[in-house]
Amino acid sequence: MTTINWFHEVEKRKDLLIEQTQEFLRIASVLDESTATKQAPFGEGVASALAYLLQKGEENQFFVKNVDGYAGLIQHGEGENSVGVLCHLDVVPAGKGWTSSPFSADIRENRIYARGAIDNKGPTMAAFVALMIVKELELPLQKRVQMIIGTDEESNWRCVDYYFKHEEMPTIGFAPDADFPIIHAEKGITDVSFNWKGKEKIEASRLRLQRFDAGERLNMVPDHASVKIVGELGELEQLEKNFHQYILEINQNGSATLDNGTLNLEFEGISAHGSTPENGLNAGVYLAQFLANHSFQSAANDFITFVVEHCDFDGKLLQINTRDEVSGPLTINAGLLQFDQSGEAKAGLNIRYPVTASGEDCIEKLQGVAKRNGASLIVHDHMGPNYVEGDHPLIKTLQNVYERQIGEEPELLAIGGGTYARSLKTGVAFGPMFPGREDVAHKKDEYIDIDDLLKMTAIYAEAIYELAKDKE
Ligand SMILES: [Zn+2]
Repeated sequence: MTTINWFHEVEKRKDLLIEQTQEFLRIASVLDESTATKQAPFGEGVASALAYLLQKGEENQFFVKNVDGYAGLIQHGEGENSVGVLCHLDVVPAGKGWTSSPFSADIRENRIYARGAIDNKGPTMAAFVALMIVKELELPLQKRVQMIIGTDEESNWRCVDYYFKHEEMPTIGFAPDADFPIIHAEKGITDVSFNWKGKEKIEASRLRLQRFDAGERLNMVPDHASVKIVGELGELEQLEKNFHQYILEINQNGSATLDNGTLNLEFEGISAHGSTPENGLNAGVYLAQFLANHSFQSAANDFITFVVEHCDFDGKLLQINTRDEVSGPLTINAGLLQFDQSGEAKAGLNIRYPVTASGEDCIEKLQGVAKRNGASLIVHDHMGPNYVEGDHPLIKTLQNVYERQIGEEPELLAIGGGTYARSLKTGVAFGPMFPGREDVAHKKDEYIDIDDLLKMTAIYAEAIYELAKDKE
């Protein structure tokens, strides 16, 4: 039974923790292909931040390794099994409108302001100082502790792809790159599209759909959709009237302009994240529903019918709807809908399926749907779910640590989004955002609260010790 006062140990190192966090934040570690080299695949800024942290590791007599500029390893202790702490030091571009320079790491109101303060350099430094504490207290460990530092989390995860191809996967681990208490279930995510090739033959029809456009990214609900329609003036005028009637009936916003024989319809939906499509209003689907009551050339009719008959947000129409206790229902976001007059068309979906469902089954069903509708299915991306069961020792240990230090019973969270923890074989997201905090990641004036920084350091130190102290 240890009687270590972890928070007290952190307080003893408070000045060092703050200073090192500031120094680390002052290195603008934004992906920069223009300065990329073989040793620095993500550019100079990222490489300097990695060198800085590995240097600190060396100064503290840890085993360190620069894995070809893709990632870093800072290791402590011995043992066959290992505990991984997965962090990242790349940051998204600063953007505009900051009160102080985004890489000055100024302190105001007990907060350190900088790009990367909360996502993820502040928490990375917290984990590093936590490891220093465990080492300086000379606590006996049965597992190795491996701090793995990624450098491309904000873009393509090429860092962890490379790292785990060449280095070992920790036995268990956590990633301080999301929310406290513990995210133990992340849905599977796949991006697919149904694609139709254009036909050369142009058939006669009274109304012709020239273009249909909705959405830019699969993981956002399209908040805008537009179409261009040509045809007889009388028909177009009637369509325009019907459209006004439609948006009035469903109480939404849109506009119609008839201009030189072309009718332009615009529909305004409501954007939402692709993991919560039910919170948005898909402009593309709503516009297609309107068009479905009218007749166009056959390729356009087929496309519109496909959208209306397949693009809901729970997968019932595609017959892939499932749900489970732990992570809830499958969700679908039709994030990209496009048609052009050649008949070339695309319906792109972002699908998030429950942790106990099979992604392969789902994709197989979609293949069938594609076949029946004369489309080809392209799977752009597929990340399997991440799930560690609630009674796993990793979860139990992290729950105990959190409860001891925070005094609140830690709830296990299941989410539709993806966190960095997904790249660990047996790993969960553990912090750094405490419940109820304002989410400032990727925003201007990003900051980390200094009290939170101290608290998370204490939590990480105890978690590292508790996870590494036993062999199994
Ligand atoms: Zn992050």
